[in-house]
Parts: sequence; structure tokens; C-alpha cells
Amino acid sequence: DPILRVEDLYKSFGGLVAVDDASFEVERGTVVGLIGPNGAGKSTTFNLVTGFYDADGGTVELDGEDVTDLPPEARATRGMIRTFQISRELTGMTVRQNVRLGGQDHDGENVVQALAGTASDREAEIADRSEEILKQLELWDLRDEYAGNLSGGQRKLLELGRALMADPDVLLLDEPMAGVNPSLSDEIIEMIEEMKRNGLTVLIVEHDIDMIMDISDTVVGMHQGRVLTSGSPEEVQNDDDLLEAYLGGEV
Ligand code: ADP
Ligand code: MG
Ligand code: MG
Repeated sequence: DPILRVEDLYKSFGGLVAVDDASFEVERGTVVGLIGPNGAGKSTTFNLVTGFYDADGGTVELDGEDVTDLPPEARATRGMIRTFQISRELTGMTVRQNVRLGGQDHDGENVVQALAGTASDREAEIADRSEEILKQLELWDLRDEYAGNLSGGQRKLLELGRALMADPDVLLLDEPMAGVNPSLSDEIIEMIEEMKRNGLTVLIVEHDIDMIMDISDTVVGMHQGRVLTSGSPEEVQNDDDLLEAYLGGEV
């Protein structure tokens, strides 16, 4: 069974239909790339799937459970975690505190304890894992820096780190490479491949189509809120409707 099933999802803002009866399925342990020109409804789809926006219509099923009416925290507890196109780290906390906090989101443990680093098995585990993640993302040297002092790309990495700390089953990445140093883009790609090897399911939006085609098992092509096409990268790459949508819109 698919780990995620999105059916007839619909969302409008005033008169503007942002997501128009979008349907797609995501198989467990796969990487799904969501592509489409600017304004196609990719970020809104992520918001609907993870519960940050309420849908006007349609359903979201996570691991066989209808989560359409559940708030984002409840979906996170069930293992679905997302990052944002514009990162949402807590600027008044340090890099390390931000990442440690990610470990708390998922299982609801005491946030204060996490920040203080109070000794318990769980805290030691969080400390170890956060160190590992910060090193992987090359943020270790910045661990005591306030998040508010980071560059845009570093903030994106920090947000990714927080998401990883939550130990997700399904991870949605909205333009994770935006503003990130190219050498670290490769590291992010490697991390996604490693996640897949570990059985995680990843949905990713990114502007670099070649990269998406390379990394994805399935590609979903959106335009004007609708899913125009979905299938293997080869299938989607040769889809004339999608090509036309790209040529007609600003990419
Ligand atoms: P994408 O991520 O594919 O670039 P979005 O999902 O961000 O597209 O946006 C789809 C459409 O919905 C755009 O026309 C955008 O302006 C509109 N939109 C998105 N979020 C909001 C919002 N919170 N309020 C009003 N309009 C929105
Ligand atoms: Mg956009
Ligand atoms: Mg977007």
C-alpha cells in the first residue's frame, strides 16, 4: 500500500485556485519529485499534505489513515515532517538548540530538558544525533551561533537538520537547496539517497529539474494547481503537456 495517498485535494485563496483536485500516490521508501512552474501549487500541496493549511476538499491518507482533519503536530507524530521554502528556524536560539529542538517535535518530550541538555538516555541520544547531523551539514563550527545570524543557505541547512532530528518516516523538502553552497547541494543529495536506503520516503520540490529527474523514483508534474502528469522520470520528461506548461510559464 502507498504510504501517502492524496486524493482530489483542493484549495483556493479568494478567487485563486491554488490546488485543483490534485491526486497522487507515494510508495513507501521512494523519492518523489514535485515539479512545475512557479505558482503551480507545489508549496500549497505540501502545506495541505502536512496540515499547515486546511483543505477545502479532498483527502490525505498517511499509512492507511485519513489524516485530512488532523493538525500538523498530529501528522508529525505519525512520522510526517516537512521543511519550508522560507526556513522557519528560531532566530533567538543557537544552531545547536534549534537542531536539538527538532528531536522534541516528534515525540513530545520536554523542550526545556532538551535545551538544558539534562542528562538522561534520551538526552544523550539527542546530543549524539544532533552532533552527527550538524557535522554532516557542516554547521558544527556554527553550533553556538544564533540562528538569526546565519546566511539564507545556512538556515535552509539548519531547517533540514531539525527535520532530520525528528527521525521522520516521510520527509517533505521544499527547495532544500535554495541559497545553499553548491558543494553542500551534493551533500544534501547524498543525504537524500541515504535516507532512501534507510527506508524513508522523501518528497522534494526543487528548481533543478535535472537533479529531480536524477534523484526521483517518481515525478509529479503540476501546473495551475493540477497534476498534469506523474510517472517515472523518463515518462514525465517526455510529457508534452508539462513541457508546454513550462514554456508558457515562468520557471
Ligand atoms: P509553487 O510552490 O508551485 O511556486 P504555491 O503553492 O506557492 O506555488 O502557490 C500557488 C498559487 O497560490 C500562487 O498563485 C500563489 O500566489 C497562491 N498562494 C499560495 N499561498 C497563498 C496564500 N497563503 N494566500 C494567497 N495566495 C496564495
Ligand atoms: Mg514558487
Ligand atoms: Mg513553492
